[in-house]
Amino acid sequence: MSKFLDERYSSLAAYVPGEQPQDKKYIKLNTNESPYPPSPETLAAVNVGETENLRLYPDPDGRILTKKIADLYGVESENVFLANGSDDILNFAFMAYCANGRKSYFADITYGFYSVFANLHGSDYTEIPLEKDFSIDADKFCGVDGGVFIANPNAPTGLALSLEEVEKIIKSNPENVVVIDEAYVDFGGESAVNLTKKYDNLLVVQTFSKSRSMAGARLGFAVGSKEIIGDLHKLRYSTNPYNINRLTLAAGSACIDSQNYYDENCKKIMATREFTKTELQKFGFSVLPSKANFIFAQSPLIDGGELYLKLKEKGVLIRHFTSERIKNFNRITIGTPEEMQIFIEKVKEIMEEN
Ligand SMILES: *Cc1c(COP(=O)(O)O)cnc(C)c1O
Repeated sequence: MSKFLDERYSSLAAYVPGEQPQDKKYIKLNTNESPYPPSPETLAAVNVGETENLRLYPDPDGRILTKKIADLYGVESENVFLANGSDDILNFAFMAYCANGRKSYFADITYGFYSVFANLHGSDYTEIPLEKDFSIDADKFCGVDGGVFIANPNAPTGLALSLEEVEKIIKSNPENVVVIDEAYVDFGGESAVNLTKKYDNLLVVQTFSKSRSMAGARLGFAVGSKEIIGDLHKLRYSTNPYNINRLTLAAGSACIDSQNYYDENCKKIMATREFTKTELQKFGFSVLPSKANFIFAQSPLIDGGELYLKLKEKGVLIRHFTSERIKNFNRITIGTPEEMQIFIEKVKEIMEEN
């Protein structure tokens, strides 16, 4: 830290992303990426169509892609906001609605970036504890006096709230923005996108990083009332109007055009998830019921940190979190069936050595 850094950032604890090792090739089950490549159409759009145009700035409103997303989800373009990954949107949402002492509410065990953004923007935030079984009690998020951030399905648990419970939360907080972060919704959750037509305090955030195999391209979008989307554009135009590059815009459009391909991948991943869960249960693991592209599991026979390290030695990366309530768990991204077969074999070896 230099002596020049503003005091309010001196104690900021930055977000710690999952490892992206460059040293050797792992079976990578630690950051919830898709194991499948982008569709052939998506690749073609980037390789051929767009590289020549890199000398030109991108459309700062990404109008072609915005329209495609609006059509896909049955809303108008004015209800759709694009950004450089959904993290970019969450940042703007905290900046717009929860900064400088304004309040925000999120679960104690959820996406780690919420508390980082809350601290970054000086939000007065409250972490609402999950229940013993790691579920969210929707009532605890009703009628609060600040912005609400809920990952649905939640990370790293994979548990989902029903649409009814989500609506109850939105309805009970008419004076505050409710952000529903649907990074994993395509793996079996219920989207709240349609509720944006009914509630002007709802912002639904989604990403191309997980179900659409584009984590490296950085593309997220949000759906909400025209007014909320306008707020976000104002902040975006005040920071970086060209926050999405040309290659990503082109890839995103082609991606929406090949939606069937991605739907098929999600089905495969959901089937592989259930296979992996059943196999782990055979070794005595307890596995939370996941609606995401990962599972959250623990074993009474091996410590979560130890399992993580031993798998890493064997070339398989999973995610281990050190916070008290979940330190015996591991979050395991669902890869291809072949990758999960190897994962299961390695777990078996470790359990036998134990
Ligand atoms: C992965 C993830 C994000 C971030 O996605 P990007 O679009 O890659 O920035 C946001 N929220 C949750 C809950 C996530 O798991």
